[in-house]
Amino acid sequence: MKVVVFDFDGTLTVKGTNVWREIWYRLGYDVGENSYYKELYNKYMDKEINYKQWCALTCKAFQDRNFNKKILDEIVSSIKVMKGVKELFDELYNKGVEINIVSGNILDAIEYVLKDESKYINEIKANDFVFDDNGNLISINGTDYDYEGKAKYIEKIASRLNISTKDIYYVGNSANDEYVYLSGAKTICINPDETKTDDINVWNTIIEIDDLKDLSHLLK
Ligand SMILES: [Mg+2]
Repeated sequence: MKVVVFDFDGTLTVKGTNVWREIWYRLGYDVGENSYYKELYNKYMDKEINYKQWCALTCKAFQDRNFNKKILDEIVSSIKVMKGVKELFDELYNKGVEINIVSGNILDAIEYVLKDESKYINEIKANDFVFDDNGNLISINGTDYDYEGKAKYIEKIASRLNISTKDIYYVGNSANDEYVYLSGAKTICINPDETKTDDINVWNTIIEIDDLKDLSHLLK
């Protein structure tokens, strides 16, 4: 095994803060079942809008309520990293394993939360918030690598390193990781959250852990 790709939310972090949902909420929007927030999610899932459109419409709603970097920083500071991340990354890194992160979260948030682990990480793919000098949101550059895109990302790594996708492990926890198996990567689900746990193809291994170091015997 040469590469491990990790999801971020609920995989490298303790299940809890949903940054996107929290922003909507902090800006005074309803986040219930009949909210615009949910409507956009459902439209994306029903393929009425694509990921970039989802991000653009979200950006507009955030701008309408003067969303800024300060609010993001406050939300991000409440995210709790999983126990054992540093130990696992250190072990993998010292074995020469490449560590990448592919997430539907926000680049600034991931970099902040994993600032002590940054030296171990080869690459992070996530959504990118662009702020002006005053911290006001200018745009949201949606990632190409969420949902189906996560499988595309695995294929991209395999082709860059000229290895088989079978030599790549993917560690995730939820519905937006369910496409990864289509790439051929080995999939491990930790602490499953709203994902298919009865399909051995989608998730090759499923485990409940509270210390990421417990993954180390599976990653070889
Ligand atoms: Mg997740």
